[in-house]
Amino acid sequence: MTATLTLFRIRGIPVQVHASWLAIYGLIAWSLAVGYFPQVLPDVSAWAHWTNALLAALLLFVSVFVHELSHALVALRYGIPVRSITLHVFGGVSQLEREPERPGEELMVAIVGPLTSLAIAGVVLLTATVLDPGPAAAATMQYLVLVNVVVGLFNLVPGFPLDGGRVLRAALWKAKGDLRWATQVASSAGAAFGLLLIVLGVWRGLTGQFLGGLWFVVIGLFLRQAAAASYQHLVLRRSLAPRTVADAMTSPAVHVSPEVSVDALVEDFFWRHHVTSFPVVDGGRPLGLVRVHDLQRVPRERWTVTPVRELMLPLSAALTIAPGASLWEAFEKLSSNGVGRLAVLDDGQLVGYLSIKDVMHVLTLTTGAPGPQSVSRAA
Ligand SMILES: [Zn+2]
Repeated sequence: MTATLTLFRIRGIPVQVHASWLAIYGLIAWSLAVGYFPQVLPDVSAWAHWTNALLAALLLFVSVFVHELSHALVALRYGIPVRSITLHVFGGVSQLEREPERPGEELMVAIVGPLTSLAIAGVVLLTATVLDPGPAAAATMQYLVLVNVVVGLFNLVPGFPLDGGRVLRAALWKAKGDLRWATQVASSAGAAFGLLLIVLGVWRGLTGQFLGGLWFVVIGLFLRQAAAASYQHLVLRRSLAPRTVADAMTSPAVHVSPEVSVDALVEDFFWRHHVTSFPVVDGGRPLGLVRVHDLQRVPRERWTVTPVRELMLPLSAALTIAPGASLWEAFEKLSSNGVGRLAVLDDGQLVGYLSIKDVMHVLTLTTGAPGPQSVSRAA
């Protein structure tokens, strides 16, 4: 579904690269090979510039990876599971299973990233000073010091969702005990910083630095979009987290037997009930889900002889949930399982069926009515 490739696992965390990474790797290597290296090492061949550039760009990504890894390891220390580390066009992202529950945890998970980048810069600088390497290695190390300082300082900017914005949010959250307000303020700061980058980018573009200016604009837009999304994400989570799957599910759920023919499935289920999927249940035992768009996998002339069993998606952990689970957990599963449906199981029995639509219905009902205010109880 997403264009990512898993490179390896570290402490069980998959480390992935996004397809956009290859493009940006090429772009950075190219800019180093035709810009930076010819400038600092004028007497060297183009081949050597390219070799140095490819290595330096790779080391830049290793630095970004170590920055992300530091977030992930501190999160693990606080018992927050890490789903993945992904390197992409804007650097990297550590996908945490959940947000930190206390301002102190948020602060530590956030601050360790920029500190790691600055520490890498310090170590490389120290190594370069002590070892006094040849000109090519020195140029590469100088570049690494520079980019790690830039990555460290950029991430310290107090605009959510940058690391510095998370630090700001943790401080505000600690001060007032109101996570929603803290996120709102920190996200506004993030959006404002994004706007500043766009203005700077346009200005750079107008003064002739077109590529550099464009890059500022792209990062500014990305930051503004991410700031808005982070705030909406929090509002959504706080509306859904206090409610359970049982509050929203359709129960009892209409279900179909695995031995029913596809023909009968269409006539007696899809045409009769206005839904696009059904749970498949055999003598009380839930087996899978069958969706309307799976019908196209069976030629029409075979509908009468093909049982639903051959068409269904077998149940897996991604397709099931307990009735007592929070609606937020359900929403995350619904948005990531590629089906948008969950079979609700209690003690191995089907007790209900949940779709994204059901969750949206609950959201519509609860918007306007204030949800429980204090997530900061945990603090
Ligand atoms: Zn970071």
